Amino acid sequence: MTNIKKRAWAEPFKIKMVEPLKMLSRHERAGALREAGFNTFLLRSEDVYIDLLTDSGTNAMSDYQWAGMMLGDEAYAGSRNYYHLEAMVQRVYGYKYLVPTHQGRGAENLISKILIKPGQYVPGNMYFTTTRLHQELAGGTFVDVIVDEAHDSTDLRPFKGNVDLGKLEALIAKVGAAKVAYVTVAATVNMAGGQPISLENLKAVRALTAKHGIKVIFDATRAVENAYFIKTREAAYADWTIEQIVHEMCAQSDGATMSGKKDLLVNIGGFLAINDLDVFEEARNLVVVYEGLHTYGGLAGRDMEAMARGIEEAVQYDHIRARIGQVEYVGERLKASGIPIVEPIGGHAIFLDARRFLPHLTQDDFPAQALAAELYLESGIRAMERGIVSAGRDDATGKHRYPKLELVRLTFPRRVYTQAHCDVTAEAVEALYESRAEIRGLEMTYEPKYLRFFQARFEPKAG
Ligand SMILES: *Cc1c(COP(=O)(O)O)cnc(C)c1O
Repeated sequence: MTNIKKRAWAEPFKIKMVEPLKMLSRHERAGALREAGFNTFLLRSEDVYIDLLTDSGTNAMSDYQWAGMMLGDEAYAGSRNYYHLEAMVQRVYGYKYLVPTHQGRGAENLISKILIKPGQYVPGNMYFTTTRLHQELAGGTFVDVIVDEAHDSTDLRPFKGNVDLGKLEALIAKVGAAKVAYVTVAATVNMAGGQPISLENLKAVRALTAKHGIKVIFDATRAVENAYFIKTREAAYADWTIEQIVHEMCAQSDGATMSGKKDLLVNIGGFLAINDLDVFEEARNLVVVYEGLHTYGGLAGRDMEAMARGIEEAVQYDHIRARIGQVEYVGERLKASGIPIVEPIGGHAIFLDARRFLPHLTQDDFPAQALAAELYLESGIRAMERGIVSAGRDDATGKHRYPKLELVRLTFPRRVYTQAHCDVTAEAVEALYESRAEIRGLEMTYEPKYLRFFQARFEPKAG
């Protein structure tokens, strides 16, 4: 409760431009939800009151970033904004070479194509939707090597994003190092509820993989949020700056994929950063095919400038403390009302535990999907499912994957909503919890082939 009392996290900015919000009636929301097939991804954002669908690309940029947009050098080749971005990536993340991409998955596509040979394995600390899909499309097989407690929403250990070194070692022993393309390490682990990995663990992963000549590719998308948790939870780094910690985290890897739409406070952008010259040269060849020339990678010069400036702002301590403080504020309030959420509270979102919220539903009722739909109906607040729908089907058997966690994610865009919006959100979830016994399961009526959670459609189950 410390954060609630102290408000030490109070927003380190003031607002100079506003965007009006609209609130539909309950009747109108019911119509919008039916039209969207009970999938919050298919709602029109105009029909949403508080949009907690994602923190991806939904950031509010600063005046400094907007000023940078005006300095976009829209040259086809060699834009000055590319060189600014390169310098910032080298300074903060510490990698030698930069390949900009339109967003994170563009970088994942490149690195998967370059480093994975069909039949190889790609261990990682829990899957991320687009990361795993690119690995599979490149012929690889993802293997989850996260610690067991990551799957337990009540386990309070501080670094539930850690790699289980025993699992990783067992995989290497079983298939042989030559069959391991690389290890993906994500910080913080989105699908585990925004849980961080410790620097101690990152260093141990580095030591183990180095012994076998296996590369480590870091998903640095949320490295700044992770660095804040390291600073506040891992005693050895309490006096380090966020920038120093991010640098040290990246130093445990050979390269990184990045979605700038998260930590880096922009609306679009990403990159691949790498130390190995051969891999860089291959990426520079491929980026021309899939994204754009190697000095813009599908981005306008102004987008690269905003991202370069975003890196500078992202690692400021007051910023990241406020960002995570806001999430913790909502989480502590829900906990105080007895609502089941993933703990410890993660860096970017509150995850409602739909299994404990709706114990009368089975996983085949799509409980998290149903809960997200009901939250919208109740309040106009948009969240998203992270459970059986997101997990998709098993390639080999064609059956649903049944993840242990069945979650509804309330994701907080950076610098967008106020504390009163946070209170409204908590009140809406509390009201839903009181009437939870009435929430019914869903049936899937349309299922797309890839990343089905984006476009699947549902109907309420009868009864
Ligand atoms: C968002 C995200 C990605 C994918 O990035 P996009 O910009 O959405 O393509 C990859 N990894 C993590 C951890 C993410 O949060």
